Amino acid sequence: AGDSKDYDREVKSICPFCGVGCQLSYKIKDNRIKYVDGINGPANENRLCVKGRFGFDYISHPHRLTKPLIRKEGMPKGLNVDPADVHTHFREATWDEALDAAAKGLSDLRAEKGTNVAGFGSAKCSNEEAYLFQKMIRQGFGHNNVDHCTRLCHASSVSALLENVGSGAVTATFNEIENADAAIVIGCNPIENHPVAATYFKQFTKRGGKLIVCDPRGVGMGKFATHRLLFKPGADVSMLNAMMNVIVEEGLCDRQYIEGYTENWDEMKAHLADYTPEKMAPICGIEPDALRAAARDFATARAGMIFWGMGISQHIHGTDNSRCLISLALMCGHVGRPGTGLHPLRGQNNVQGASDAGLIPMFLPDYQSVTDDGVRSAFTDVWNSGDFSNEKGLTVVEIMDAIHAGDIKGMYILGENPAMSDPDVDHARAALAKLDHLVVQDIFLTETANYADVILPASAWAEKTGTVTNTNRQVQMGRPAVTPPGEAKEDWWIEVELAKRLGLNWTYSHPSEVFAEMKLNMSSLDNITWERLEGEAVTYPSLSPEDPGQAIVFGDGFPRPNRRARFTPAKIIEPDERPDAEYPFVLITGRQLEHWHTGSMTRRSHVLDAVEPEANCSMNPRTLRRMGVAPGEMVRLTTRRGSVEVMARADRAIAEDNVFLPFAYVEAAANILTNSALDPYGKIPEFKYSAVRIEAATAV
Ligand code: SF4
Repeated sequence: AGDSKDYDREVKSICPFCGVGCQLSYKIKDNRIKYVDGINGPANENRLCVKGRFGFDYISHPHRLTKPLIRKEGMPKGLNVDPADVHTHFREATWDEALDAAAKGLSDLRAEKGTNVAGFGSAKCSNEEAYLFQKMIRQGFGHNNVDHCTRLCHASSVSALLENVGSGAVTATFNEIENADAAIVIGCNPIENHPVAATYFKQFTKRGGKLIVCDPRGVGMGKFATHRLLFKPGADVSMLNAMMNVIVEEGLCDRQYIEGYTENWDEMKAHLADYTPEKMAPICGIEPDALRAAARDFATARAGMIFWGMGISQHIHGTDNSRCLISLALMCGHVGRPGTGLHPLRGQNNVQGASDAGLIPMFLPDYQSVTDDGVRSAFTDVWNSGDFSNEKGLTVVEIMDAIHAGDIKGMYILGENPAMSDPDVDHARAALAKLDHLVVQDIFLTETANYADVILPASAWAEKTGTVTNTNRQVQMGRPAVTPPGEAKEDWWIEVELAKRLGLNWTYSHPSEVFAEMKLNMSSLDNITWERLEGEAVTYPSLSPEDPGQAIVFGDGFPRPNRRARFTPAKIIEPDERPDAEYPFVLITGRQLEHWHTGSMTRRSHVLDAVEPEANCSMNPRTLRRMGVAPGEMVRLTTRRGSVEVMARADRAIAEDNVFLPFAYVEAAANILTNSALDPYGKIPEFKYSAVRIEAATAV
């Protein structure tokens, strides 16, 4: 930080990184951000983590794309174009030239076959940009092959929430933990991934709240836990069913709540009878007494909350994991009151908003089904255009498979990096290389942009106007702090210009006009106007123009046909591949505090990359000793899909038969190793469990 002499203006906006949605103030001098302070937003109350405070300088990195680029004739597609050498592979173009080329390539494919183009939008863009993106694919290409990174993070949570609660968003803000007596934090590592939310969790324990931390890794939150359940990877359903068995057997259910607000209880109760702690202990690795003690504390709390992350969702049984958490909260009556609720901690800063805005192959905005004729016609009326497909579109991984099958030949990718983020990423990279026409819109020459035919230079979050929705359902205004470099443009502007060239009737001249259109078919935005958001954050649903929004929902029933939430029993499903003699360890991938997702931003942030400059994996010190590898030496990790070499760290928080690998490092891309097997409901890959072999890198 500095003093007031350090800057000549300040701009209030939102952090570009995680779904907590911290409000911050950029201090600016000479069109450069000098530093950042936290301000008093509803989710952060002046707090920021290291990313929000020090991670802003990626926007002025010399690798920024500043001019539209078109691939030179005959230059091969693929990785490893040195940004300094970009002009060997691409030639600079005017905006008109690049947009014409982008549109022509896509519309030629559209003319050939209507389903030939798919789109990945971005959870790092604004709500308006996400809305425009899904509209372009649906209106412009007539189908629903549009998706984004929610497919890789919480799609299974949303699937279970929609099925059983009737809404895909959180039932209570994470700040509600201040009114709770007990909380379960499972399959997430908020101290690293949602650090400001974690500060509220720590405060909760300081005032005596009982914290139940469940994770295969000894995550940092465990230090604050009343109960710390280090269960075996992939054994979530067995552990959660056992906890629910205890609650039923000991008569700790909230009978009145179950009778008043739920359905399918008898089936659920019968299902749970088999899942005794004694039977489940060998499967999940938690002693019966520990399971009982945790279950009792959660069930007997006056108010309890459940928070979860991708440790729950990124499994082929991710939807079942979430079903268990929903059932656990319902049977204890821990929904709809102060200090209660279900809260999947959302990952990217606008993954909630992008999902709400319809960047999903099966849903239009507000999770309205594409298969419903009335819903589609409500949108085409507003769009003043013809109908589009009533079939659910393909999801992220399915789109890559469809490219290999020759069913999709063109893509428009805005701000996503599937060449790093997809499971079995060599398969995804081969798919991208196979495309006849790929348009990439981004701020850097990402790994994905290396496969592009046309690259459109976009704006970083701190360079544009738009609204975002955080994990708490809080809609907030992002404002431009500085101007984009060179000829880079705001994403919404690029989308509009591309749509016009695709023959669409778009006339937007400002994001506020897009927001106004969104409101026409999104009741979640009732009572929320652009003008309101200029002055305050509003939590949806907002019941009146004066209502700041409902932090807790479903106190009087659920948005399901009978107003009742549903118990959906979940059986144990084994991970898709199990360790064996050839691949004896379990690989768990994830994030770390300093680096953000595929690293395109944070690895170009001076402070953050200085703290964590090198690809690393974490292993138990005993495992390292057994292998004769010293901390800091290189190991080779090999799965059925490929190998990476990476520096090994000793970490007692990792079980002896596990290894943890962050996915932000291109030089040891974790997703070369991961399994693309999908959860059948959420279509999310099993990033959290792959069978892996570990060797000293010098061993072969
Ligand atoms: Fe940004 Fe999330 Fe950190 Fe807040 S907690 S400053 S939103 S990265």
